Amino acid sequence: MKAARFYGPGDIRIDEIPEPAVRPGTVKVEVQWCGICGTDLHEYLEGPIFAPPAGAPHPLTGETVPVTLGHEFAGVVAELGQGVAGLAVGDRVVVEPYIVCGRCDACQQGRYNVCATLGFVGLSGFGGGFSRYVVAEQRWIHPLGDLGTDVGALVEPLAVAYHAVRLSGARAGHTGLVFGAGPIGLVTTAALRAAGVEQVIVVEPAGVRKTKAATAGADHVIDPTEADTVGSVMELTQGRGADVSFECAGIDAVLASAIRSTRAGGTCVNVAIWGHQASVAMNDLVFREVSLVGSLAYANDHPATIRMIADGLVDPHQFITGRIELDDIVSAGFDELINNKEENVKILVRP
Ligand SMILES: [Zn+2]
Ligand SMILES: [Zn+2]
Repeated sequence: MKAARFYGPGDIRIDEIPEPAVRPGTVKVEVQWCGICGTDLHEYLEGPIFAPPAGAPHPLTGETVPVTLGHEFAGVVAELGQGVAGLAVGDRVVVEPYIVCGRCDACQQGRYNVCATLGFVGLSGFGGGFSRYVVAEQRWIHPLGDLGTDVGALVEPLAVAYHAVRLSGARAGHTGLVFGAGPIGLVTTAALRAAGVEQVIVVEPAGVRKTKAATAGADHVIDPTEADTVGSVMELTQGRGADVSFECAGIDAVLASAIRSTRAGGTCVNVAIWGHQASVAMNDLVFREVSLVGSLAYANDHPATIRMIADGLVDPHQFITGRIELDDIVSAGFDELINNKEENVKILVRP
């Protein structure tokens, strides 16, 4: 089968590789749609970051580059391994793309998203969604019910947002504040709206993204190049600040604004992965007892995320800005996302 494999910076190739074989307890999924993620772009631009480089195989997969990319995928069940019950060939499913040890303290706590040797299908080995077939253990297979597999490919990024919103403790009547209206900021905005948050404020300078933020559910969009962000948030919240805020950018000045815009006793959730050591004004946290929480990916969030979409609380179609074939993944996928960053949210690939 054909697979888009990552070799090194700027080097993704369409290779012919063997189909994975089903094993007892696993499910073979025929991928129908797989989204290109910001993480994939980082690998392409400056990797290997998550992908295991030559000479340093991932401890759980034993693989190094080249690895098949693609972790935001959905498809149909093609074959069931021995002992798998409750699924049938043809069922639409999404795969939670984890590779975890099951033994470390985090795994024992059920926080498998922060496993000491965490890996991802589509980054660390065990194949990926930019190929026709993936085999995964049944625990990672989530039925989509009546939802289409294009929408299914959006479950993974929406689960990232659902998890972050869950950790924030956001509830009906709250004000939520999101910094950045890139793909993660947009799904976080939608997930806050789905959680019944009363007011959602998004901070974003880019014109096209401001419009997308409003479509995703923002009541107010603050342009930080035109207005004082903290002052504007205070004005919109009767001087209190937001109950919950989300840093989706990984920029010091944004983190500082996020903390200072959060209400006394409120929670600021960091969703960004940082490329440098952040500087934090700790007294901004201490003097108003703001909690700063890290959020990584998702754990046990897929079923609730699928329900959120099935119940019509989020419409994932708004995030799909392109559909392409595997052969065009570099030019119409990766390069398009890099060159037209603001216009695009999620490009889906059909392998
Ligand atoms: Zn992703
Ligand atoms: Zn573990």
